[in-house]
Amino acid sequence: MSDHTTATSTAASGAASGGKQELPVYVIGAGPGGLAVAAALREHGVRAVVLEKSDAVGASWRGHYDRLHLHTTRRWSSLPGLRMPRSFGRWAARDKVVVYLEKYARFHGLDVVTGVEVTRVDRAEDGGWLLHGTGGRELAARAVVVATGYNHTPKLPAWPGADSYPGELRHAGEYRNAAPYEGMDVLVVGVGNTGAEIAVDLAEGGAARVRLAVRTPPHILRRSTLGWPAQASGILCRRLPRALVDRVARGLTLHAPGIGRPEKGLATRAREGAIPVQDVGLVKAVREGGIEPVAAVESFDGGKVTLADGSAITPDAVIAATGYSRGLEPFLGHLGVLTPEGKPVGRPPSGLYFTGYTNPLSGMLRELARTAPKIARAIARER
Ligand SMILES: Cc1cc2nc3c(=O)[nH]c(=O)nc-3n(C[C@H](O)[C@H](O)[C@H](O)COP(=O)(O)OP(=O)(O)OC[C@H]3O[C@@H](n4cnc5c(N)ncnc54)[C@H](O)[C@@H]3O)c2cc1C
Repeated sequence: MSDHTTATSTAASGAASGGKQELPVYVIGAGPGGLAVAAALREHGVRAVVLEKSDAVGASWRGHYDRLHLHTTRRWSSLPGLRMPRSFGRWAARDKVVVYLEKYARFHGLDVVTGVEVTRVDRAEDGGWLLHGTGGRELAARAVVVATGYNHTPKLPAWPGADSYPGELRHAGEYRNAAPYEGMDVLVVGVGNTGAEIAVDLAEGGAARVRLAVRTPPHILRRSTLGWPAQASGILCRRLPRALVDRVARGLTLHAPGIGRPEKGLATRAREGAIPVQDVGLVKAVREGGIEPVAAVESFDGGKVTLADGSAITPDAVIAATGYSRGLEPFLGHLGVLTPEGKPVGRPPSGLYFTGYTNPLSGMLRELARTAPKIARAIARER
């Protein structure tokens, strides 16, 4: 791995070499998606340089909360060319995932340049691409792979009065563990996988009271039933009609008092971008009273939080597990390659590729692993 000084020289040599074919492919982002594509390109003998804005690979995984384990199995979370070792167990811990990503980059001898944020991508006159990066860098590329992550920019709702809240109001992306919340009355907003697990972590980690604000009741599934992982069902479901999956999933969904039952079917919700919550303690904690579901948050008024059912509560801290945006507009918006929702269009122009911008039931890591060789083949063919 190299630092940003090397990035400058890489760029200079790429730009000076003239012919489009001799330019490298730039992969933006050294998460699992970007690393997998870079490794697959190497297999095809294509020179790839990964640009990473942080100072190490796997930045997103380094930043996740401490207790996080993969919800997807080790086998179906491995990237092409290097399996996660058995010693990681079936559900690899966050730290292990980071170790794996570091090893993956070394094992494949990937050219990863850290400390470079790509701030804009333009079409070059010769039909290639020009990347603009921090520090005034301009990098000429024969192709660009965008792998900056689905969970890129924390989304905090514009709650009226939130500015007046005297307690601690943080996005879940900043949450590490329960220690700072010991003895506190905490409201977790949002019952996706992250909100559900943070609420459990707080309840088990010594918070005095944990409430969980629910706007849309989620589908809650066991991570594994008699050894059969929910992910395996997710993989099978991809081939089945949506209505059938919706019907079958009804019988598998767990219920926790106060959280409500989902109105739409599981596959229908997944299509809208809401994957089911894997139960890692939520149902038990709600049943035992360690987590109290409450209505969605409407507004703040000083220390008072008003909920959608008209009630008001006064928590010491609020953790908003309210999702992320893809954050592609600032550096790609001008190219016309994004939908109004900020997703990549189905058919981007030649030489521009995206990986990691869906939220599949079959597991993101699995899909990243499957997409990487396809992108590499397409780029190799463009030669
Ligand atoms: C809490 C949580 C738990 C999850 N658990 C699972 C799971 O169990 N199984 C599963 O399959 N998936 C899971 N996911 C989905 C997860 O997003 C993927 O596993 C995976 O990290 C996505 O990889 P990625 O490479 O697309 O994005 P990321 O891992 O987010 O990597 C993107 C990289 O791009 C860098 N970057 C961003 N912008 C720029 C820029 N402009 N220039 C340069 N670099 C940039 C970032 O610093 C980052 O290193 C989870 C997600 C979350 C949030």
